[in-house]
Amino acid sequence: NFSQVRAVPQIVGADLEVPVKGGNLVGYANLDYAASAPCLAPVSEAISAALPAYSSVHRGAGYASQLTTARYEQARHTVRAFVGARPGDAAVFTRNTTDATNLLAHCLPKGTTVVVFETEHHASLLPWDNVVRLAAPAFPGEAVRAADEALSAVEGSKLLVVTAASNVTGELWPIAALAHIAHRHGARIFVDAAQLVPHRPLNITALDLDYVAFSGHKIYAPFGAGVLVGRSDWLTEAEPYLRGGGASKAVGPDVEWCADAEQRHEAGTPNVLGAIALAAACDALSATGWTPLLAEEERLLARLRAGLAGVEGVRELGLWGPEHPRVGIVSFVVEGRTAREVAEALSAEYGIGVRDGKFCAHPFVNHLLDGVSTTGCEDGTASAVRASIGIGTTEEHVDRLITALRELASRR
Ligand code: PMP
Repeated sequence: NFSQVRAVPQIVGADLEVPVKGGNLVGYANLDYAASAPCLAPVSEAISAALPAYSSVHRGAGYASQLTTARYEQARHTVRAFVGARPGDAAVFTRNTTDATNLLAHCLPKGTTVVVFETEHHASLLPWDNVVRLAAPAFPGEAVRAADEALSAVEGSKLLVVTAASNVTGELWPIAALAHIAHRHGARIFVDAAQLVPHRPLNITALDLDYVAFSGHKIYAPFGAGVLVGRSDWLTEAEPYLRGGGASKAVGPDVEWCADAEQRHEAGTPNVLGAIALAAACDALSATGWTPLLAEEERLLARLRAGLAGVEGVRELGLWGPEHPRVGIVSFVVEGRTAREVAEALSAEYGIGVRDGKFCAHPFVNHLLDGVSTTGCEDGTASAVRASIGIGTTEEHVDRLITALRELASRR
């Protein structure tokens, strides 16, 4: 278990107990990290440490304001380092990944064509105006070929959008190869790293990515903070994302907006605690080191997937076959049961938290579930159950899920 990994940070609320049918309390088996990960102890400590003296950033001479400004800018520095940003890159704090993709969409040069896979989370699928949508590729090389073909057919400014790790299947996408193809066509690439950064290191310089975004709440930092990191030129040339104080430099009859990409797009009082929490989570993961975290995740994920494969009537979903590498996320269907029934029974009877539905990736889940029975599904379309793991997941949680599914599947 992660708790036996050297120097792994503790989860706040790891001993949470929840009521199950019959009135007993059981330890909560949280297998819903991909929705929002629980808070790490060092993150909670960083938030508490910032509370005694806080004030609005950038605009005050007072001690609390100066301290808060320094903490906020330190958080930005930490996040930049965490993703290996280049010296000229901007790191704009946003509310979450969705806000970051919408910010980038707002900043695209006029006439930019966006090429996006249909497998994207809605946050990366929907913000763009001028879009070419690519079908789910049958294998990773097909993704590169399809992007190559689509980008070669587009003139002018272009952006390729792709997720690094799927929030539905956990599968890792060939982002280095896609970056290479994008650049060969004079396009830029945006990578949705929301589900990658809680599980794997990311270095945008080494991978040659133009933009990345992720959310604090998926990387063990609660509260609404996310970030867009990447090339600053499109950001400094665009109109401010929000108009107001902080983004404006001089205001008379006309407005002079801040030229700096970060100030320009962060009008209003920012979520300083969210940024501090996000940075503390980055620090905590870096300090633990990826090697032991990865080894433990791989072990628990293999146990989970082997367990699922052993339950009759359970089918794991995947785009690129069982051997393709993935982060700790698995979606599945249970024959003869709706996803909602399964998720509700897991919670009510076993104290297990999973997700059911289409996970804000409707086209992708519909593609994966093509042919799955829709009997009993409320809206007439099939959906799936998703189990996702992270720091705080134990063997007991995984085994409890498998036992529960075996019982549910045999109860006909
Ligand atoms: N992209 C991916 C891959 C995600 O999993 C999610 C969250 N489910 C998002 C984007 C959106 O994140 P947020 O809700 O924090 O904006």
